Amino acid sequence: MTAEIALPATIAATGVADWSDEVDVLVVGAGMAGTSAAIEAARNGARVLVLDRGGPMGCTTAMAGGHFYLGGGTPVQHAAGFEDTVEDMAAFLTAMSPDCDPAKIEAYCADSVEHFGWLEALGFEFERSFWPGKAAVQPGTEGLMFTGNEQVWPWRDQMRPTPRGHKPPVQGDFGGAAFVLELAVAELARLGVEIRHETGVTELVTEDGSGAVVGARWKHFGATGAIRAGAVIIAAGGFVMNDAMVAEYVPLLQVALEKGMALGNPHDDGLGIRLGQSAGGAVEHLDGMFLTAPFYPPGELVKGICVNAEGERFVAEDSYHGRTTAMALDQPGHRAYLILDSAHMAEPAYGLHPLIDGWETVAEMEAGLGVPAGSLERTLTAYNASAAHGRDPAFGKAADYVEPLDTPPYGAYDLTPGAVFIAGFTCGGLRVDVDARVLAEDETPVSGLYAAGACASNIVVDGYGYASGLQLGEASFFGRRAGRHAAVNLPAGSVTQITPDRSTHDTGRTREAAAWE
Ligand SMILES: Cc1cc2nc3c(=O)[nH]c(=O)nc-3n(C[C@H](O)[C@H](O)[C@H](O)COP(=O)(O)OP(=O)(O)OC[C@H]3O[C@@H](n4cnc5c(N)ncnc54)[C@H](O)[C@@H]3O)c2cc1C
Repeated sequence: MTAEIALPATIAATGVADWSDEVDVLVVGAGMAGTSAAIEAARNGARVLVLDRGGPMGCTTAMAGGHFYLGGGTPVQHAAGFEDTVEDMAAFLTAMSPDCDPAKIEAYCADSVEHFGWLEALGFEFERSFWPGKAAVQPGTEGLMFTGNEQVWPWRDQMRPTPRGHKPPVQGDFGGAAFVLELAVAELARLGVEIRHETGVTELVTEDGSGAVVGARWKHFGATGAIRAGAVIIAAGGFVMNDAMVAEYVPLLQVALEKGMALGNPHDDGLGIRLGQSAGGAVEHLDGMFLTAPFYPPGELVKGICVNAEGERFVAEDSYHGRTTAMALDQPGHRAYLILDSAHMAEPAYGLHPLIDGWETVAEMEAGLGVPAGSLERTLTAYNASAAHGRDPAFGKAADYVEPLDTPPYGAYDLTPGAVFIAGFTCGGLRVDVDARVLAEDETPVSGLYAAGACASNIVVDGYGYASGLQLGEASFFGRRAGRHAAVNLPAGSVTQITPDRSTHDTGRTREAAAWE
């Protein structure tokens, strides 16, 4: 854990006596965003160097489950019998992330099938199969599952519910992203791109007068140096491991993780964000966080109801686990409970939620939970009256999960932070445009500077609308855009050697034709 919040200084280019390396594109960070950026920059003819402060596979990507949020009609969706369109996908993401720049959602959805192909061309195939259950990650190697709020009311009535969580063919909850990352690293080796590990960027180098970013200073144990670059792409992760930044920007995250786990690697200390700020980059959505504590599987538990300290429901229980956890934190005193009767009682598979107790009557349960007398009785009476007809008019829980809860004894699991084991990470970062150029407060690009992945703010702005796979999806997608845009827009004179496109997967387009502007 770090508690550093100050911005690093910038170094004036005129003050650098010796450059250790001169490259077209310098990538800071070798996770999903950095490797994707580096591949695309190299395929577009740039001489690329990647620096990473950690050892090989020490990034957060290497820890991740491996869902990539993809849609608009991918081969897996087709094979599994789901119809999806760019428009449906964009409508859903817009509803989930209304504060996101629409241009980013448009680009992400329009090119999602192409991006699916780009990922597979690294050397694997998503299994053409669907897993229908309720879980955080499908247990097997099935290629597709619902990983967001697509089937949740009101969105299921507004756009066709379609699964978009694509997982590489790796069994279980972890390892899918490491599998893809290893292929990306192998592709970089094939392209002749060096990754220098245990070499952290400490400051950016800027040009006097213009303030353009023209390189970076690095540190490798006791050695230091500076690299001259036509463009610098920061792909250095989020800030969940920085206590001071968390306290400043997203203090509720500390409450949520009181008994839980920050999802990240030790270098998720926000240095990438602060480096960008030091060169004039603006930040956004730093108050956004993703939290998770899935009480399912088994899906039977979704038939329970979530109530707060007032004994009132606050969320459709079939919501994506990140949304339910975020909503629980919003309740008075952050208190929340999952109530079940004995006909629906089951043990949460992940074991994150303590069972508080069992009670013979609802009145005893009210007393046991410390909620107002009569409150749960009212909530359960109203719920059970419509549940008897398979309906949930208050929150629109899907009929599959709506059954009366009227068989005593009753039981409750604790959803309250501090009792439940919650995991989470930060969502916001450097303000970037659709091509990953870092923007200043006045919305103009900071010349020579790009950012992608968890240190940039793209589609993921908070946990209410998060769908699993969006982080890896946007890290790889906007990482690619950063690499490509940087490579084809290098400042005049900065390219020391123009090489042809070395991609085996590309169509031989010229650098200019490949520009996405
Ligand atoms: C357990 C777990 C499961 C997850 N599951 C999923 C999932 O299934 N789907 C999904 O979409 N998301 C998932 N996530 C989130 C996702 O893994 C991250 O958001 C994503 O990997 C971030 O990628 P990145 O390239 O931005 O950062 P990283 O992968 O962390 O890479 C950043 C790299 O930058 C390096 N670095 C930092 N500072 C510097 C510096 N100053 N100089 C040089 N290098 C530096 C770091 O060492 C690191 O290697 C999960 C996260 C966790 C922890």
